Amino acid sequence: MAYRRTLRRQVACTGIGLHSGRPVRLRLRPAPAEHGIRFLRTDIGVEIPASLAHIGAQDHATTLQKDGVSIGTVEHLLAALLGLGVDDVLVEVDGPEVPVLDGSAAPFVILLHEAGLRPLATPRLHLKVLRPVEVVHGTKMARLAPAEHFEIRYAIGFDHPLLRHQAVAVRLTARTFTDQIAPARTFGFLREVELLRKNGLALGGSLENAIVIGETGVLNNKLRFEDEFVRHKVLDAVGDLALLGHPLIGRLDATKAGHALHAAVARKLLATPDAWELVPAGAPLARPDTGSVAPALRPAEA
Ligand SMILES: [Zn+2]
Repeated sequence: MAYRRTLRRQVACTGIGLHSGRPVRLRLRPAPAEHGIRFLRTDIGVEIPASLAHIGAQDHATTLQKDGVSIGTVEHLLAALLGLGVDDVLVEVDGPEVPVLDGSAAPFVILLHEAGLRPLATPRLHLKVLRPVEVVHGTKMARLAPAEHFEIRYAIGFDHPLLRHQAVAVRLTARTFTDQIAPARTFGFLREVELLRKNGLALGGSLENAIVIGETGVLNNKLRFEDEFVRHKVLDAVGDLALLGHPLIGRLDATKAGHALHAAVARKLLATPDAWELVPAGAPLARPDTGSVAPALRPAEA
Protein backbone atom coordinates (compact mmCIF):
# COMPACT_ATOMS: atom_id res chain seq x y z
CA MET A 1 0.00 0.00 0.00
CA ALA A 2 1.31 3.44 -0.91
CA TYR A 3 0.31 6.55 1.00
CA ARG A 4 -0.19 10.10 -0.17
CA ARG A 5 2.75 12.36 0.42
CA THR A 6 3.41 16.00 1.10
CA LEU A 7 6.54 18.01 1.90
CA ARG A 8 8.39 17.87 5.20
CA ARG A 9 8.99 21.63 5.22
CA GLN A 10 8.38 24.65 3.00
CA VAL A 11 10.94 25.67 0.40
CA ALA A 12 11.24 28.64 -1.95
CA CYS A 13 13.14 29.89 -4.95
CA THR A 14 13.19 32.90 -7.26
CA GLY A 15 13.52 33.05 -11.03
CA ILE A 16 12.11 34.73 -14.09
CA GLY A 17 9.01 33.87 -16.09
CA LEU A 18 9.85 32.47 -19.52
CA HIS A 19 7.16 34.43 -21.31
CA SER A 20 6.82 37.55 -19.14
CA GLY A 21 10.56 37.95 -18.50
CA ARG A 22 9.67 39.20 -15.01
CA PRO A 23 11.09 37.96 -11.69
CA VAL A 24 8.77 35.69 -9.71
CA ARG A 25 8.98 34.08 -6.28
CA LEU A 26 7.84 30.48 -5.82
CA ARG A 27 7.14 28.83 -2.48
CA LEU A 28 6.07 25.21 -1.91
CA ARG A 29 4.18 24.53 1.32
CA PRO A 30 3.18 21.22 2.94
CA ALA A 31 -0.56 20.48 2.72
CA PRO A 32 -3.00 18.01 4.33
CA ALA A 33 -4.15 14.77 2.67
CA GLU A 34 -6.65 15.21 -0.22
CA HIS A 35 -5.63 18.87 -0.64
CA GLY A 36 -4.09 17.91 -3.96
CA ILE A 37 -1.75 20.20 -5.88
CA ARG A 38 -3.05 23.77 -5.80
CA PHE A 39 -1.52 27.03 -7.01
CA LEU A 40 -2.05 30.27 -5.06
CA ARG A 41 -1.43 33.60 -6.78
CA THR A 42 -0.29 35.43 -3.64
CA ASP A 43 -0.31 38.80 -5.46
CA ILE A 44 -4.08 38.63 -5.98
CA GLY A 45 -5.24 35.95 -3.56
CA VAL A 46 -6.73 33.47 -6.03
CA GLU A 47 -6.22 29.71 -5.65
CA ILE A 48 -6.30 27.43 -8.69
CA PRO A 49 -6.38 23.61 -8.43
CA ALA A 50 -4.03 21.71 -10.74
CA SER A 51 -6.71 19.85 -12.68
CA LEU A 52 -7.83 19.32 -16.27
CA ALA A 53 -10.91 21.40 -15.51
CA HIS A 54 -8.76 24.51 -15.05
CA ILE A 55 -6.59 24.36 -18.16
CA GLY A 56 -6.41 27.67 -20.00
CA ALA A 57 -4.09 28.50 -22.90
CA GLN A 58 -1.75 25.77 -24.15
CA ASP A 59 0.20 27.44 -26.95
CA HIS A 60 3.79 27.09 -25.76
CA ALA A 61 3.23 26.00 -22.17
CA THR A 62 0.36 24.86 -19.98
CA THR A 63 -1.60 27.59 -18.20
CA LEU A 64 -4.15 27.05 -15.44
CA GLN A 65 -6.95 29.54 -14.95
CA LYS A 66 -9.89 30.28 -12.73
CA ASP A 67 -12.17 33.33 -12.42
CA GLY A 68 -10.15 35.19 -15.07
CA VAL A 69 -6.88 34.67 -13.19
CA SER A 70 -4.14 32.48 -14.62
CA ILE A 71 -0.85 30.89 -13.70
CA GLY A 72 1.40 29.90 -16.59
CA THR A 73 4.21 27.44 -17.34
CA VAL A 74 3.09 25.02 -14.64
CA GLU A 75 4.11 21.80 -16.43
CA HIS A 76 7.75 21.37 -15.38
CA LEU A 77 6.93 21.83 -11.69
CA LEU A 78 3.92 19.51 -12.01
CA ALA A 79 6.16 16.93 -13.68
CA ALA A 80 8.61 17.07 -10.76
CA LEU A 81 5.75 16.68 -8.25
CA LEU A 82 4.28 13.67 -10.06
CA GLY A 83 7.70 12.26 -10.88
CA LEU A 84 8.77 12.24 -7.25
CA GLY A 85 5.36 11.25 -5.88
CA VAL A 86 4.12 14.43 -4.16
CA ASP A 87 0.31 14.39 -3.93
CA ASP A 88 -0.54 17.27 -1.61
CA VAL A 89 1.18 20.66 -1.80
CA LEU A 90 0.34 24.36 -1.96
CA VAL A 91 2.33 26.20 -4.62
CA GLU A 92 2.52 29.94 -3.94
CA VAL A 93 3.56 32.22 -6.82
CA ASP A 94 3.57 36.03 -6.69
CA GLY A 95 3.03 36.55 -10.41
CA PRO A 96 1.42 35.09 -13.55
CA GLU A 97 4.06 32.39 -14.26
CA VAL A 98 6.07 29.71 -12.52
CA PRO A 99 9.78 30.61 -12.86
CA VAL A 100 11.43 28.85 -15.80
CA LEU A 101 14.79 28.37 -14.00
CA ASP A 102 16.98 26.36 -16.41
CA GLY A 103 14.10 25.26 -18.67
CA SER A 104 13.99 21.75 -17.21
CA ALA A 105 12.50 20.12 -14.09
CA ALA A 106 15.89 19.44 -12.48
CA PRO A 107 15.85 22.57 -10.24
CA PHE A 108 12.39 21.58 -8.97
CA VAL A 109 13.64 18.07 -8.20
CA ILE A 110 16.47 19.61 -6.17
CA LEU A 111 13.98 21.90 -4.40
CA LEU A 112 11.78 18.90 -3.51
CA HIS A 113 14.79 17.04 -2.15
CA GLU A 114 15.57 20.11 -0.04
CA ALA A 115 11.98 20.06 1.28
CA GLY A 116 11.97 16.33 1.98
CA LEU A 117 8.85 14.20 1.55
CA ARG A 118 6.46 13.12 4.31
CA PRO A 119 3.86 10.32 4.05
CA LEU A 120 0.31 11.17 5.08
CA ALA A 121 -2.15 8.73 6.69
CA THR A 122 -4.34 8.47 3.57
CA PRO A 123 -3.74 5.76 0.95
CA ARG A 124 -2.88 6.99 -2.51
CA LEU A 125 -5.20 6.02 -5.36
CA HIS A 126 -3.85 5.48 -8.84
CA LEU A 127 -5.73 5.98 -12.06
CA LYS A 128 -5.47 2.70 -13.92
CA VAL A 129 -6.15 2.64 -17.66
CA LEU A 130 -8.46 -0.28 -18.55
CA ARG A 131 -8.82 0.21 -22.29
CA PRO A 132 -7.18 2.48 -24.88
CA VAL A 133 -8.36 5.96 -25.76
CA GLU A 134 -6.82 7.97 -28.56
CA VAL A 135 -6.80 11.48 -29.99
CA VAL A 136 -5.52 12.13 -33.52
CA HIS A 137 -5.00 15.53 -35.16
CA GLY A 138 -3.56 15.04 -38.64
CA THR A 139 -0.10 13.50 -38.14
CA LYS A 140 -0.22 14.14 -34.37
CA MET A 141 -1.39 11.40 -32.06
CA ALA A 142 -1.72 10.71 -28.34
CA ARG A 143 -3.02 7.44 -26.95
CA LEU A 144 -3.45 6.13 -23.41
CA ALA A 145 -3.39 2.36 -23.11
CA PRO A 146 -3.34 -0.24 -20.32
CA ALA A 147 0.10 -1.15 -18.88
CA GLU A 148 1.52 -2.57 -15.66
CA HIS A 149 3.32 0.65 -14.75
CA PHE A 150 3.47 4.31 -15.77
CA GLU A 151 5.19 4.33 -19.15
CA ILE A 152 5.66 6.82 -21.96
CA ARG A 153 6.68 6.20 -25.56
CA TYR A 154 7.23 9.41 -27.44
CA ALA A 155 8.28 10.21 -31.01
CA ILE A 156 8.88 13.63 -32.54
CA GLY A 157 9.68 14.84 -36.03
CA PHE A 158 10.25 18.42 -37.15
CA ASP A 159 11.05 20.01 -40.48
CA HIS A 160 14.65 20.57 -39.39
CA PRO A 161 17.80 18.54 -40.17
CA LEU A 162 18.59 18.05 -36.45
CA LEU A 163 15.14 16.86 -35.52
CA ARG A 164 13.72 14.76 -38.33
CA HIS A 165 13.07 11.90 -35.92
CA GLN A 166 13.71 11.20 -32.24
CA ALA A 167 11.97 8.56 -30.15
CA VAL A 168 12.24 7.32 -26.61
CA ALA A 169 10.46 4.86 -24.33
CA VAL A 170 10.66 5.08 -20.57
CA ARG A 171 9.06 3.48 -17.54
CA LEU A 172 8.61 6.35 -15.11
CA THR A 173 9.88 5.85 -11.58
CA ALA A 174 11.30 8.49 -9.28
CA ARG A 175 14.76 7.26 -10.28
CA THR A 176 14.29 7.27 -14.04
CA PHE A 177 12.41 10.57 -13.92
CA THR A 178 15.17 12.23 -11.90
CA ASP A 179 18.08 10.88 -13.93
CA GLN A 180 16.76 10.74 -17.45
CA ILE A 181 13.79 13.03 -17.91
CA ALA A 182 13.92 15.91 -15.39
CA PRO A 183 17.19 17.46 -16.72
CA ALA A 184 15.94 17.71 -20.34
CA ARG A 185 15.45 21.37 -21.24
CA THR A 186 12.85 23.28 -23.21
CA PHE A 187 13.83 23.85 -26.82
CA GLY A 188 12.91 26.32 -29.50
CA PHE A 189 13.90 27.23 -33.02
CA LEU A 190 15.85 30.41 -33.63
CA ARG A 191 13.63 31.09 -36.66
CA GLU A 192 10.60 31.25 -34.32
CA VAL A 193 12.11 33.47 -31.65
CA GLU A 194 11.31 36.72 -33.45
CA LEU A 195 7.66 35.76 -33.93
CA LEU A 196 7.32 34.68 -30.29
CA ARG A 197 8.75 37.99 -29.10
CA LYS A 198 6.44 39.95 -31.42
CA ASN A 199 3.56 38.18 -29.71
CA GLY A 200 4.92 39.06 -26.28
CA LEU A 201 6.07 35.50 -25.61
CA ALA A 202 9.47 34.11 -24.57
CA LEU A 203 10.55 37.56 -23.32
CA GLY A 204 12.52 35.80 -20.56
CA GLY A 205 13.90 33.16 -22.91
CA SER A 206 17.68 32.89 -23.26
CA LEU A 207 20.43 30.36 -23.73
CA GLU A 208 20.31 30.01 -19.90
CA ASN A 209 16.86 28.43 -19.95
CA ALA A 210 16.25 26.90 -23.37
CA ILE A 211 18.03 25.00 -26.09
CA VAL A 212 17.97 27.24 -29.14
CA ILE A 213 18.17 25.42 -32.46
CA GLY A 214 19.73 27.31 -35.37
CA GLU A 215 19.81 26.30 -39.01
CA THR A 216 22.60 23.75 -38.64
CA GLY A 217 23.07 23.11 -34.94
CA VAL A 218 22.23 24.17 -31.39
CA LEU A 219 23.40 27.61 -30.26
CA ASN A 220 24.06 26.38 -26.73
CA ASN A 221 27.42 24.71 -26.27
CA LYS A 222 26.15 21.23 -25.71
CA LEU A 223 23.17 19.05 -25.05
CA ARG A 224 22.56 17.20 -21.78
CA PHE A 225 21.43 14.11 -23.73
CA GLU A 226 21.82 13.35 -27.40
CA ASP A 227 18.02 13.01 -27.54
CA GLU A 228 17.30 15.82 -25.07
CA PHE A 229 14.48 17.17 -27.29
CA VAL A 230 12.25 14.10 -27.12
CA ARG A 231 13.06 13.63 -23.44
CA HIS A 232 11.74 17.13 -22.84
CA LYS A 233 8.52 16.16 -24.60
CA VAL A 234 8.23 13.28 -22.13
CA LEU A 235 8.80 15.76 -19.30
CA ASP A 236 6.00 18.00 -20.62
CA ALA A 237 3.71 14.98 -20.93
CA VAL A 238 4.37 13.91 -17.33
CA GLY A 239 3.49 17.44 -16.19
CA ASP A 240 0.31 17.55 -18.24
CA LEU A 241 -0.77 14.07 -17.07
CA ALA A 242 -0.36 15.28 -13.48
CA LEU A 243 -3.56 17.24 -14.16
CA LEU A 244 -5.46 13.92 -14.04
CA GLY A 245 -5.18 14.32 -10.27
CA HIS A 246 -3.89 10.80 -9.65
CA PRO A 247 -0.69 9.00 -10.65
CA LEU A 248 -1.30 7.00 -13.81
CA ILE A 249 -0.97 3.25 -14.30
CA GLY A 250 -0.90 2.99 -18.06
CA ARG A 251 1.13 3.94 -21.09
CA LEU A 252 1.08 7.14 -23.10
CA ASP A 253 2.01 6.66 -26.75
CA ALA A 254 2.57 10.03 -28.38
CA THR A 255 3.67 11.08 -31.85
CA LYS A 256 4.41 14.75 -32.60
CA ALA A 257 2.09 15.69 -29.75
CA GLY A 258 2.24 18.63 -27.37
CA HIS A 259 0.44 20.21 -24.41
CA ALA A 260 -2.95 20.46 -26.15
CA LEU A 261 -2.96 16.82 -27.26
CA HIS A 262 -1.69 15.58 -23.87
CA ALA A 263 -4.62 17.33 -22.22
CA ALA A 264 -7.08 16.17 -24.89
CA VAL A 265 -6.27 12.49 -24.43
CA ALA A 266 -6.35 12.86 -20.63
CA ARG A 267 -9.80 14.49 -20.88
CA LYS A 268 -11.01 11.78 -23.24
CA LEU A 269 -9.87 9.12 -20.77
CA LEU A 270 -11.79 10.70 -17.89
CA ALA A 271 -14.84 11.15 -20.12
CA THR A 272 -14.86 7.42 -20.94
CA PRO A 273 -16.05 5.83 -17.69
CA ASP A 274 -15.25 2.21 -18.60
CA ALA A 275 -11.69 3.10 -19.71
CA TRP A 276 -10.29 3.63 -16.22
CA GLU A 277 -10.67 2.94 -12.51
CA LEU A 278 -9.12 4.22 -9.31
CA VAL A 279 -7.06 1.59 -7.50
CA PRO A 280 -4.88 1.60 -4.40
CA ALA A 281 -1.50 0.32 -5.48
CA GLY A 282 2.06 -0.24 -4.48
CA ALA A 283 3.13 2.79 -6.42
CA PRO A 284 6.02 2.56 -8.84
CA LEU A 285 6.63 6.24 -8.06
CA ALA A 286 6.45 5.87 -4.28
CA ARG A 287 10.01 4.86 -3.49
CA PRO A 288 12.33 7.69 -4.49
CA ASP A 289 15.39 6.45 -2.67
CA THR A 290 15.59 2.76 -3.55
CA GLY A 291 17.72 1.41 -6.32
CA SER A 292 15.27 -1.35 -7.23
CA VAL A 293 13.80 0.23 -10.30
CA ALA A 294 13.44 -1.13 -13.75
CA PRO A 295 15.73 -0.58 -16.70
CA ALA A 296 15.44 2.95 -17.78
CA LEU A 297 15.43 3.75 -21.40
CA ARG A 298 15.08 1.35 -24.23
CA PRO A 299 14.65 2.07 -27.91
CA ALA A 300 11.15 3.00 -28.92
CA GLU A 301 9.29 0.40 -30.92
CA ALA A 302 7.53 2.93 -33.06
ZN1 LIG B 1 8.38 22.07 -21.39
